[in-house]
Amino acid sequence: MTIEHVEINKPKRNEVLVRTRVSGLCHSDLHFMEGKYPTPVPAVLGHEAAGVVEEVGEDVTHVKPGDHVITCLSVFCGHCEFCVTGHQTICSNTAIKMPPGKAKRLRWKGEHLNQFLNLSSFAEQMLVHENAVVKIREDMPLDLAALLGCGVLTGYGSVVHSARLEPGTIVAVLGCGGVGLSTIHAAHLAGAARIIAIDIDANKLQMAKIFGATDNMDAKDPDMVAKIIEMTQGGVH
Ligand SMILES: [Zn+2]
Ligand SMILES: [Zn+2]
Repeated sequence: MTIEHVEINKPKRNEVLVRTRVSGLCHSDLHFMEGKYPTPVPAVLGHEAAGVVEEVGEDVTHVKPGDHVITCLSVFCGHCEFCVTGHQTICSNTAIKMPPGKAKRLRWKGEHLNQFLNLSSFAEQMLVHENAVVKIREDMPLDLAALLGCGVLTGYGSVVHSARLEPGTIVAVLGCGGVGLSTIHAAHLAGAARIIAIDIDANKLQMAKIFGATDNMDAKDPDMVAKIIEMTQGGVH
């Protein structure tokens, strides 16, 4: 990673120029930096951010200059078969949810510079489609809001969409990092009766209690599985 001066376009139709205030560093960014996941380079990484709308293009109706927003990498068109059936995350419109290397919004030394996940938040400004931002309340701290766009949603979605947790159930959450804590938080909100937080780090387990964990388990304990089965009288849902 290097710090460079780059050029960014002006907003075209349905695009929004955002002044980045805060960007999270997601572990996925690290995977791309280390080359474990492929992406066309050179690129500006970063994908969970909060900022203030600076300028909007033609036909933008969701936001206006001055609005506080968070970004989300799941940009969607809102009109395709998947979007209209409530599955915006698998939007098939590649003119809006552009595949890697396709967005022509950034330049470096006069050459094409790749936008990452249609966002590129490790920069002072982001040029994105209006459906890549969500307006938030102005009194929400931007450093906390920035995490909503990826880590928090990943945890929340795993509870609400994947596990479809029902009130009263008992759950175990393996790993209490940003996603794990958000999973615990979502399980708590969804009405889990008991939430067992599992991690090797005592500090993270302590944090897990703040987010709603009712029990802790040391992941290094070789009897962990047996203990969980015993304490839940048969295992977690
Ligand atoms: Zn992420
Ligand atoms: Zn769509």
